[in-house]
Amino acid sequence: MGSAGNLPCSIEDVINLVGIKVVRNTGTQLHCKCPFCDDKKAHLNVKISKNVFRCNRCGRGGGVLHLYSLMHDVTMNTAYDELCRIFNSGVDSTREAFPKRIAEVVAPELPIASIEVRDNTYSNLLSLLSLGAAHRESLLLRGLSNDDINRLGYKTTPAVRAPKIVTQLLERGCELQGVPGFYCDRDTSRWKLDIRGSGIMLPDRNSRGQIEAIQIRLDKVHKSKFNNLTSVDRYCGTSATCCPHFVGVTQETDAVYLTEGVMKSDIAYCLSCELGCPRAFVGLTGVGNINQFQRALTELHELGIYRIKVAFDMDATVNENVRAARNRVLETGCDAGFDMTPVAWDPRSKGIDDLLLMIKKNRLNKKSMEEQYVD
Ligand SMILES: [Zn+2]
Repeated sequence: MGSAGNLPCSIEDVINLVGIKVVRNTGTQLHCKCPFCDDKKAHLNVKISKNVFRCNRCGRGGGVLHLYSLMHDVTMNTAYDELCRIFNSGVDSTREAFPKRIAEVVAPELPIASIEVRDNTYSNLLSLLSLGAAHRESLLLRGLSNDDINRLGYKTTPAVRAPKIVTQLLERGCELQGVPGFYCDRDTSRWKLDIRGSGIMLPDRNSRGQIEAIQIRLDKVHKSKFNNLTSVDRYCGTSATCCPHFVGVTQETDAVYLTEGVMKSDIAYCLSCELGCPRAFVGLTGVGNINQFQRALTELHELGIYRIKVAFDMDATVNENVRAARNRVLETGCDAGFDMTPVAWDPRSKGIDDLLLMIKKNRLNKKSMEEQYVD
């Protein structure tokens, strides 16, 4: 193996380090899949003794530092510094001190990006997508208006356009690293969007209106109706972290309705507005997740809101798990000094969204059911 002058490693070390796929190794040359172009074969040629590379397809080429800086989009100086650090050596050390090759490219899960980064990337992502006709139709049936749907920013999961969308996000300067749903393709080193099932993408917004996560209402229900946009278990992926979803909560809000999920709280809020008595909602994205509820309490406290009406689905009367979760929420809230009131309604309407939709329909039938509206 040829040393690369006074560099801390050889080009072969960098090939191994960054995970470029070696298709053929002749002993003097490596034939690799080029990570910089749409190379389907092995156009990237590496001369081991000379420590140089060149792609015969896209023409990119250079030495050890060029390869590393191109892969990580850093300057040559940074490439040099990082390689020195990675190979645990100053320039004066002997070549023998360097590890011959990195046994395996580690695929760490990346730490989650800041809320600001996620909000920016997700907002841009959703702005590039559209909502399919079937999805719009199903949302209209659940009581939302076209204006509501557009304002909420619900979109259909992308399928064929996904690679183009990633390119557009990068062109807009969006960070993808550490944003759940994005990961790095091991073979091409390109960022990808991880869509694990088709459905409606629902932005999960915090008390300041920032999108922290995206829930997906799945078209095909397997274990659950909802998924979170995630890239967990992917190379340089990140697992999703949802936040309590705030909708309609303002400075004037005196009490919030606590319910389950992004979609249910959005629909309930929109229907309450349409019925002429807007209410504020907080949707927990996992009713069993007491940590998330505690975060909601902290944020409500900061907003000076101390009244919570617990409006979980009415299957709490039959479903043991939901009942246990509701009781835990009531207890935790009371302990934290909140005024917790469980609300109940005719169980023929399962969720508070169903109840409000029924009231809307009855109103349309000219039968006022206002007395049924929980207050
Ligand atoms: Zn190439």
